[in-house]
Amino acid sequence: MTNEERFWAKVNKNGPIHPYRPELGKCCLWTGGCTDRGYGNFHVKMADGSFRATRAHRYAYELKNGAIPDGLIVLHSCDRTQCCNDSHLSAGTLKQNTRDMVGRQRKATTNLSLDTARMIRNLYATGQYSQRAIAAAFFLDSHSTVGKIVRNEMWAEGEEVTLADWRSWRHSPARKRSPRKILKAQTGTVA
Ligand SMILES: [Zn+2]
Repeated sequence: MTNEERFWAKVNKNGPIHPYRPELGKCCLWTGGCTDRGYGNFHVKMADGSFRATRAHRYAYELKNGAIPDGLIVLHSCDRTQCCNDSHLSAGTLKQNTRDMVGRQRKATTNLSLDTARMIRNLYATGQYSQRAIAAAFFLDSHSTVGKIVRNEMWAEGEEVTLADWRSWRHSPARKRSPRKILKAQTGTVA
């Protein structure tokens, strides 16, 4: 198998439609291993038989466009770090990325709905995606939110959640006392 064949074998081209930007069409989600920040890990086999580690979205960009210009990073118009749909990828600056994401995340938070929760539950039920990957895809700040949704503890069927509910949940004392934060406070490190 060529590198390109190995690469696409790990991509689900029938990924979810973006919840807030349906005009983008389907994302192509990386199904292999990911970094902590949700970027796909791909290992390119070199001529000498060794492997060079790269990020899946960067590889997808380069397959279509050639080398990433110096000093630029590959941006996702869909904000899904594991997406490898080359029409969702462009080269830009880190500053541009942060600005775009802040704008879109703000929009995303105001648009959370039962439909989104259903989509998350359906995706998780396929068994193809980790909670962490789904959290990244839907701009949720924590995979534990996905856990709550799939266990019907948040956005259960028949329950519409308003932005005010979401805000109060985000700032609730229960959330601030998360095990990770307690662990960090106690030891200064988090596993
Ligand atoms: Zn995408």
